[in-house]
Amino acid sequence: MVPQAAFHAKFSRICYCFAMHSALVRYHEIALKRGNRAYFVEHLKKNLSTALRGMGLKEIRNASGRLLLNFNHDVPPDELIDRLGRVFGIANFSLVERTDADMPALAAHVLEALEGQSFDSFRVETRRVDKRFPLTSNDINRELGALVQAHSGARVDLNRPELTVSVEILPSSAFVSLRRIRGPGGLPVGTSGRLVSLISGGIDSPVASYRMMQRGCRLIFVHFHSSPFLDRSSQEKAKVLVDLLTRHQYNSRLYLVPFGEIQRRIVAAVLRPLRVVIYRRMMLRIASVIALKERARALATGESLAQVASQTLPNIAVIEEAARLPVLRPLIGMDKQEIIDQAMDIGTFETSVQPDQDCCQLFVPKHPAVKATLRRVREAEEALDVEELVALGADHVEVERFYYPEPKESHGREVA
Ligand code: ATP
Ligand code: MG
Repeated sequence: MVPQAAFHAKFSRICYCFAMHSALVRYHEIALKRGNRAYFVEHLKKNLSTALRGMGLKEIRNASGRLLLNFNHDVPPDELIDRLGRVFGIANFSLVERTDADMPALAAHVLEALEGQSFDSFRVETRRVDKRFPLTSNDINRELGALVQAHSGARVDLNRPELTVSVEILPSSAFVSLRRIRGPGGLPVGTSGRLVSLISGGIDSPVASYRMMQRGCRLIFVHFHSSPFLDRSSQEKAKVLVDLLTRHQYNSRLYLVPFGEIQRRIVAAVLRPLRVVIYRRMMLRIASVIALKERARALATGESLAQVASQTLPNIAVIEEAARLPVLRPLIGMDKQEIIDQAMDIGTFETSVQPDQDCCQLFVPKHPAVKATLRRVREAEEALDVEELVALGADHVEVERFYYPEPKESHGREVA
């Protein structure tokens, strides 16, 4: 995510008031891929065209290890920064205007870009990708630096300048920009395959989902709810969270699984301490059925080691045994404060802390077992018709779809 507030506070005096028809997108981790780079770049291009739907994108061109995005018309910079700032795979980007690769054109262009800007210190930073350009990067920095200084009266500061004028010289074109904006990094969504993410209304699972999308996974979301035993507040929260997360993968499916009756039957047959572990095993079994149907390769949860009783090492091992696919836990080694910080950063925290009636609150014993053993859990499950309980959840799901940017004439969500 682009830390927008911080960005605007620091650079409020620096705006993109000159016409903006292009953006240069740079990738980092993708650039480290050797033979497979084209595969990742093609995914990134496809995701970029979806993320920028409705903004007049004309073409995306490969430009010397970067992507050049050309627009049909002037684009609103804030909107463009917002959308590009969420596309996984982007290391950083700049809003740029193309110019001819010669010094008079560059000089005129730099001055035009600086019109209306106020700043006390600056530096010019040139990358000369086209080594045939007659001046070196240092020569260009010096010439343009002297020009900017003469026009603005600002001083040169190479270490902590208020404004950085970036110049990139590519074959046949040059680009000027006033700021490099950090992208969210990672890999383009879709390059790592599909995952089923178990999303509650809590703080952790949306962060876990974000981290798996950042590693290139496309997520299918599953939420367990206890309606009609409890109200629908946890479902509403899960929907808002999936809606927020869809801004990174453009379309999502959320499976809403009724879990209250399953919990009721577990309560009737299983002694208190083992119930939480058995609820979790049932969740993983049902999520596995959905994952296999969706051709997903793994499940993901927001578990963090020892955060709560169900997440001790012995319990995690016993819970995992019920899954039919690998269970990924991107938060396993994270401290709660780190998770909260990231939830704030990605914009899910505020929703997660709204009060709700989550299925975890229903029929939960005061003192759950922290060291469940597989033998005891299996014995306890003998009193249950596990297959029937799985069907009770998996056969009665509701599926809701989410889109970003919203398709025309829709509200971004649709019940399948
Ligand atoms: P969270 O903040 O994500 O709810 P938590 O710390 O409250 O996590 P638990 O309630 O033990 O932890 O849940 C552990 C994980 O199990 C969650 O991160 C989530 O992946 C999954 N999970 C828990 N409850 C649900 C639910 N109602 N629907 C879907 N997944 C759930
Ligand atoms: Mg929870």
